[in-house]
Amino acid sequence: MAEVDHLDKIMDSLQKDLSMADHHDFQGHCEKCKLPVLNDTGPGISYTVDGIQHAFHRHCFTCAGQCGNAITDGSFFMHDDKPHCKHCYENVLGYCAKCEKGLIGSQIMKAGDNKFHPACFTCIKCNTELQSRYFEKDADLYCRPCYESSFVPTCSACTNKILPDSDSTKITMVEWKDKKFHQKCFACKTCHVPFTDLKALHHKDELYCQDCYFKVIKAMDEANDALKKKTAAR
Ligand SMILES: [Zn+2]
Ligand SMILES: [Zn+2]
Ligand SMILES: [Zn+2]
Ligand SMILES: [Zn+2]
Ligand SMILES: [Zn+2]
Ligand SMILES: [Zn+2]
Repeated sequence: MAEVDHLDKIMDSLQKDLSMADHHDFQGHCEKCKLPVLNDTGPGISYTVDGIQHAFHRHCFTCAGQCGNAITDGSFFMHDDKPHCKHCYENVLGYCAKCEKGLIGSQIMKAGDNKFHPACFTCIKCNTELQSRYFEKDADLYCRPCYESSFVPTCSACTNKILPDSDSTKITMVEWKDKKFHQKCFACKTCHVPFTDLKALHHKDELYCQDCYFKVIKAMDEANDALKKKTAAR
C-alpha cells in the first residue's frame, strides 16, 4: 500500500509539473506552500542539494538557522545542506578572536578553539602574520623568533637556546642556581665530561667533577702557599 501511495504522489507531482511545463519560466513547486513558483509572480529562489532542486517563493524562503526569518533579498549561505541568512551563518562560522568580526568569505586560521582572519592571526609581540606555524604561551600567540627570545632559556655553557630534542617535544634541561644548561653541557668546567651522576662540586660558581675540583683546590692552595712564602720572605 505504501508503495502505491508513493507512486501516486510521484504521478501527482508529475502531472502537476506537466500541467505547468508550458508555463513561462516555471521553477517547480514551492517547498513551503506547495504552490508553483512562477517567474511572473517574481523570481523564486532555489538551491540544489545532492541533485535535488529545492524551490521557494521569495516570500516563503526562510532561514534554516536560529532566527528563522524570511530571506527576502535572496542572498543566503548553505550550511548542513540548509540555507542560512548571513547573520546565522556568521554565528555558525564563529567570529575572529582578534577583531571580533565575522569570518564569511575569509580563510580561517585556527589556534585551539579560536578562529582568526589571516591578517588578524599575528604574533602578539612583533605583529607578523603567523600563517600555520605559531607558538602558544598563556593563550598568547607568538612567532618562532619572538617565542624563543621571550621564553626559551639560553644554555649558560654554550650560550645556545635550549630547545626540545629534535625527535620529541621534551626539553632536557638541567638547572643549577639561576643557570640553565643543556644536559650535555652540564659538564665539568675543566675536563668537559658531563655529570651523569650528581658528583658535581662547585667552586666560585663554576662546576667541576670530583677529580678536577680537587686539582683546582690543590692548585689554589699551592698558589696561596707560594704567596704566603713570598710574603713571609719579604
Ligand atoms: Zn511558497
Ligand atoms: Zn537566520
Ligand atoms: Zn579578524
Ligand atoms: Zn613575533
Ligand atoms: Zn649548551
Ligand atoms: Zn673534570
